Amino acid sequence: MKILLVDDVQMERMQLAIRLKQLGHVVEMAESGPDALALYPEFQPDLVLLDITMPEMDGFEVSSKIRELYPEWIPIIFLSGHDAPEIIANAIESGGDDYLIKPVDKLVLRAKLTAMQRIAFMRNQLNKKTADLARVNQELEKLASEDGLTKVNNRRNVDKKLKEMISVYGRHGVPMSVILLDVDFFKLYNDNYGHIEGDQCLIQIAATLKELFARNGEVVGRYGGEEFVIILGHSDAYQAELHAQRVKEAILAQAISHEHSKVANVVTVSQGVVTIQPSGRETPDQFYHMADRALYQAKHSGRNCYALYEPSMEQQDIQE
Ligand code: GH3
Ligand code: MG
Ligand code: MG
Repeated sequence: MKILLVDDVQMERMQLAIRLKQLGHVVEMAESGPDALALYPEFQPDLVLLDITMPEMDGFEVSSKIRELYPEWIPIIFLSGHDAPEIIANAIESGGDDYLIKPVDKLVLRAKLTAMQRIAFMRNQLNKKTADLARVNQELEKLASEDGLTKVNNRRNVDKKLKEMISVYGRHGVPMSVILLDVDFFKLYNDNYGHIEGDQCLIQIAATLKELFARNGEVVGRYGGEEFVIILGHSDAYQAELHAQRVKEAILAQAISHEHSKVANVVTVSQGVVTIQPSGRETPDQFYHMADRALYQAKHSGRNCYALYEPSMEQQDIQE
């Protein structure tokens, strides 16, 4: 172990240091409290052996300071000539883990160090396991919130984020927009190029969307099948329209061949856009419904385009 030995009496310090080194430990010595506190961060001891009576700063204060400054626990053993119960109690109270009365028997010292080493080892194991667990949890959380194929937010997580944003933007009185996006003639794409190529196409579209909407308050998710959803926080109708135009251009610029498409020779998308100044009480489904009406309009306007939601769209008959 790396042991920080704190004692103001040079003779005692030296003797103990020799013993500790004989037992195979690495020892760093400090002759005062401030000295010990200065050494602590760079030496990073595994254990501190601490005298109580020292001028300037006593052992209790040093121990309290160590506990206050360094939350990462290491054992502190007090060494002192005092054997009064209240002093021993005080030592433990100030953060000490054990108390040895000087002169310390060689065998006892060795045994105590072994015991502390054992506790420190178990604690390290526990810390490692806790860190592993946190990593696994993070991984699980990511898996649970992300779409397996396209790696954008899955539907569950988009719903959750949309709910949160409705409430935030409702409180702040700021408009927000939702774009529902559907790949044009995707069935024909699958039929022509195969389902695996179809998957690749969706992956590429998702990656493009993710790149376009990576800012705070922008969310991209897979709504289902070949449909994606984009949530734009803090966006009025004008801004939403600009974004829809950007999406259209970016998807065209991908230039994924689609020779059976009836609107272009590359993959295109249709988009339904809705902008609302939410009250905070709207549900995600209400947003999706309006965006879907606009999307339906975009499809009927010839595809590879976007439409902005208007209440009159509620009157349209949906015929497939
Ligand atoms: P429209 O322009 O009207 O949207 O026509 P469309 O062919 O895109 O629409 P339709 O709803 O008829 O077909 C959607 C197709 O998307 C059918 C389905 O097999 C395909 N699809 C849905 N999810 C996936 C997927 O994860 N991978 C692949 N490869 N295809 C998918
Ligand atoms: Mg569809
Ligand atoms: Mg489609």
